[in-house]
Amino acid sequence: MNKNIIVLAGDGIGKEVTQWGVKVLQEIADQFGHTFTFEEALIGHSAIVAEGAPLSDETIERCKKADAILLGAVGHPMYDNDPSAKVRPEQGLLKIRKELGLYSNIRPIKIFDELIGASSLKPEILRGADFLFYRELVSGIYFGRPRERFNDGNSAKDTKVYHRYEVERIARQAFDAARTRRKILHSIDKANVLESSRLWRETVQVLSTEYPDVTVTHMFVDNAAMQLIRDPLQFDVILTGNMFGDILSDEASQIAGSLGMLASASVGDKVGIYEPIHGSAPDIAGKNIANPLATILSTALMLDISFGMKEEANTVIDAVDQLLKSGYRTSDIADSTTDKNQILGTKEIGNKLLNIIKNNK
Ligand code: NAD
Repeated sequence: MNKNIIVLAGDGIGKEVTQWGVKVLQEIADQFGHTFTFEEALIGHSAIVAEGAPLSDETIERCKKADAILLGAVGHPMYDNDPSAKVRPEQGLLKIRKELGLYSNIRPIKIFDELIGASSLKPEILRGADFLFYRELVSGIYFGRPRERFNDGNSAKDTKVYHRYEVERIARQAFDAARTRRKILHSIDKANVLESSRLWRETVQVLSTEYPDVTVTHMFVDNAAMQLIRDPLQFDVILTGNMFGDILSDEASQIAGSLGMLASASVGDKVGIYEPIHGSAPDIAGKNIANPLATILSTALMLDISFGMKEEANTVIDAVDQLLKSGYRTSDIADSTTDKNQILGTKEIGNKLLNIIKNNK
């Protein structure tokens, strides 16, 4: 297969980690007889500096024509310390999500056995946890209108709106994903209180008749927050709205340990964006210590979701598993039991992983 991939490395460690994503994808293409072409473009602070805007119209047009986008991270301390700055790196991110209609944010939460000691949760609760969030990304209370501060300055209003088609399109993706996994879907809402949640639940219930092979549980969000850390193994696919998903997926990220291990995909009906969940980490940028594994795991999501290449995706995931089993770590995932000689920099761990993929051929 021929695929055209746009690489938006972004800022800080974005450049350091995306280059390893590209190398892994290139190796996979060589091994499996595909042709991947990579085009670079700017986003975030680097785009503001070079092009005067965090995401140019030309870059958007190129992205729309691509088969997938690999993104690093955006952000620079000069904006974080100046909340009044009108032009900001993260505007590039919001703009691209909106322009590409990326209504579904997918975040796998999987604990690699070798990293179980790095979590603050008990190993016997964590072992085997492996689930997938489908979070609605372009609607709900983060986008609803009106939103306003009242004239007296002491009251404010936000609006939560969901339309049936918005629930249906992401629910369909989540059901389809559940079918390829353990066939368990938890839909999270607050239907005992919120009318928009009652519409959410009703829509999921209607759709579930098309998926009789998938077991559906409707769970209130407060209970879900508790169940996630009480018994994460009960979950397979979690379907949720924008704000509930924002909060729950960050909570769940702690189940998988380090930020440097977590991948994500944002997809709509066409091209998808694949990126690590971490930011530009200016504190470690340029020091060759950033963990590239979240970005590499994001390429596995790209292979699976956008290209339908399951075997290729599993080749990447298995290689990460093997790398961790052999004891190698970047410093963010090392602990007191790690052999100091096995703590590697970005380039060194990237090369180890590439060699594993090559040797497994
Ligand atoms: P961050 O994720 O960049 O960093 C948080 C901590 O985790 C830091 O100590 C960092 O060194 C560490 N870390 C992050 N990724 C790592 C990796 N791959 N390997 C090893 N350690 C890693 O979050 P922050 O410090 O809150 O934000 C920094 C900048 O990133 C800000 O400008 C913020 O706006 C931006 N940001 C961007 C995104 C995105 O592009 N999607 C997400 C979050 C934050």
